[in-house]
Amino acid sequence: MGLLEYLKRYFYAWQAPYLRIRMGLPENIIVGSHIWLGDTELVWIDGEVLNINGEDAEIQTSDGKRVVANLGKLYPKDMDAPAAGVDDMTKLSYLHEPGVLHNLETRYEINEIYTYTGNILIAINPFQSLPHLYDAYTMKRYKGAPVGELSPHVFAIADSAYREMITEGKNNSILVSGESGAGKTETTKMLMRYLAYLGGHSTAEGRTVEKQVLESNPVLEAFGNAKTVRNNNSSRFGKFVQIQFDKYGRISGAAIRTYLLEKSRVCQISDPERNYHCFYLLCAAPLEEREKYKLGDPKLFHYLNQSNCYELVGVNDAHDYLTTKRAMDILGISQSEQDSIFRIVAAILHLGNIKFAKGEESDSSVVEDEESKFHLQMTAKLLMCDPFALEDALCKRVMITPEEIIKRTLDPIAATVSRDGLAKTIYSRLFDWLVDKINVSIGQDPTSKCLIGVLDIYGFESFKTNSFEQFCINFTNEKLQQHFNQHVFKMEQEEYTREGIDWSYLEFVDNQDVLDLIEKKPGGIIALLDEACMFPKSTYETFSQKLYQTFKDHKRFIKPKLARSNFTIVHYAGEVQYQSDQFLDKNKDYVVPEHQDLLSASNCAFVSGLFPPLSEDKAKSSKFSSIGSRFKLQLQQLMETLNSTEPHYIRCVKPNNLLKPSIFENMNVMQQLRSGGVLEAVRIKCAGYPTHRTFHDFLTRFHILAPEVFQGSFEEKDTCRKILEKIGLTDYQIGETKVFLRAGQMAELDARRAGV
Ligand code: ATP
Ligand code: MG
Repeated sequence: MGLLEYLKRYFYAWQAPYLRIRMGLPENIIVGSHIWLGDTELVWIDGEVLNINGEDAEIQTSDGKRVVANLGKLYPKDMDAPAAGVDDMTKLSYLHEPGVLHNLETRYEINEIYTYTGNILIAINPFQSLPHLYDAYTMKRYKGAPVGELSPHVFAIADSAYREMITEGKNNSILVSGESGAGKTETTKMLMRYLAYLGGHSTAEGRTVEKQVLESNPVLEAFGNAKTVRNNNSSRFGKFVQIQFDKYGRISGAAIRTYLLEKSRVCQISDPERNYHCFYLLCAAPLEEREKYKLGDPKLFHYLNQSNCYELVGVNDAHDYLTTKRAMDILGISQSEQDSIFRIVAAILHLGNIKFAKGEESDSSVVEDEESKFHLQMTAKLLMCDPFALEDALCKRVMITPEEIIKRTLDPIAATVSRDGLAKTIYSRLFDWLVDKINVSIGQDPTSKCLIGVLDIYGFESFKTNSFEQFCINFTNEKLQQHFNQHVFKMEQEEYTREGIDWSYLEFVDNQDVLDLIEKKPGGIIALLDEACMFPKSTYETFSQKLYQTFKDHKRFIKPKLARSNFTIVHYAGEVQYQSDQFLDKNKDYVVPEHQDLLSASNCAFVSGLFPPLSEDKAKSSKFSSIGSRFKLQLQQLMETLNSTEPHYIRCVKPNNLLKPSIFENMNVMQQLRSGGVLEAVRIKCAGYPTHRTFHDFLTRFHILAPEVFQGSFEEKDTCRKILEKIGLTDYQIGETKVFLRAGQMAELDARRAGV
């Protein structure tokens, strides 16, 4: 090899990983090579090189076409890969996008839904029941089995977290992520079931802690999950469950934290979605209960009939109502508390049916008709508050001026907004009460030193319109991505150190700049939003102008052409354009004082308990409290907790948008691997030495390149070195047990092998 060619290769091998994930160098592709080629439909299609003319290759694709493509756009296909795929991506000879995707698809076809990428578990939703995968026998098999010995599995991850906790006394966490419908909640439940199996023990009362931990799921799902277009049982909140263990490794307590429940769903749904499950459960309750609450067909309620979807395939609401009540029993939620809870759920449905008409005075409103009056009476009765006070709280506002107290009337539109605000406030307080109650009931073990945290949190979102919710969700994902990158980087470093290899040029990929853009204080987007919310004259337009000015040179911020209020953030997973028009309203969390007064005066202790009287200071201080800032703080605390644990990652993938088994949509999966950071992990690996091969494996594959070095007795490490020297490769490293190759070097060796 001439000096120039050497330099060119060296430069390319060094630069390529930073540009994109690739391990094939054009030089390694020869006539007869099997390759992957970018394809608009399938993302990647495989084929064989028929001819090479300069920089172009003529290719016969596997679907029978002949195409010409630039050599630089081709990726080598490993023809030695096992037909059933490999259970760990790091075993792929060529670690690149098409290789990763093809491997997952091959495995998915034979219902192997789990695959490792190093110590990350990728889980592809089977959209069908695979009971043998999770039965008691399987749990038993995974108990104590070292990771890698059995097929990849959520149980293996939970088992290793448990073992690490027991043997090293370290807290562990399992972070489950993925887009809506990818299977996070099901995975989390599986993890919790397995941990309950490992750490279970019976007590004299028979109501075991682990049983309560498991039964928290149906209750939280009834009140926090709903059917959406993406998932029939979509969690509309984030959840972090910390399971505590005693010194014998038995579950001794648990703490559940939840994040950002989607409040708007309570009063606004679009076809074919549903409201929270609990409303439909209650409408399907036994007759005597329905009569007590004056409920009936869900079609009669405005909060439910905005969509035509009432029933879910395979779900029996009447049955689930009883299951939820039974779970509540196990969680120690008393009959009278259950009665109050469902009374409130019914009250919200009646509240939603109160309509307003124009009153006599201008800009005033009255309850529209007899039917609305009936629902007003019912709401007041169920909430045990005064119906006149309820009507006033909905239709009027009290203004306190230095001279006098004036009652201002609201027009019908404002009264409707007031009604919906009340419904959202009550529901979110009820949800928080449930979470608190569950925590108290399961109990915390103050002596526990060992924890396993399980995080089930919304994945990256990018829709046609993205509002404040997506902003918070994507902020969460940036935070978790940073944590993930740090971890992957650290694991790579550790492997290099174990093998005695220099890791100084491992590149750390950081997204700190996006995080600064969002959360820096002062000057980040959240801080600017809070400022705008506090300044009475701000509008979303002035807020957006402020963003444009402040971040005009920020490389993660884009002002879209012609935009007056939209802005784009360049997230690690791609660009997302946000519509800022609701940002100010959605960031303000405050309860209308009239609503607060109404409910804290309720004759039902449960209802008034949800609205404890405000302290003097709080009542006087500015009404505004920032959802964004509070969420930021919650995330900070979560990150601190996670940082003190040994993390394990599970990336859930949704193989298709039809929610059907056996359909694997390449483009869809690829995007999720990108935004889930799986390819980022691959990229970090590629920046160093992506191929690690044990001496033995290396010799098996490449002995043909230098048969002469096998004469007589030979030592594996030394023989590997001799082969590499003979071929003239440079910049590889030889560790204690493995050969470490740069991006592209494996393909180069294979090309040589093919030429022998
Ligand atoms: P969201 O973000 O909307 O809450 P999610 O990631 O939590 O979504 P899940 O509710 O866990 O998604 O899964 C969606 C559906 O996919 C489940 O209701 C179930 O039908 C199916 N599913 C997920 N994982 C599995 C599995 N391991 N085996 C069988 N079915 C599964
Ligand atoms: Mg979920």
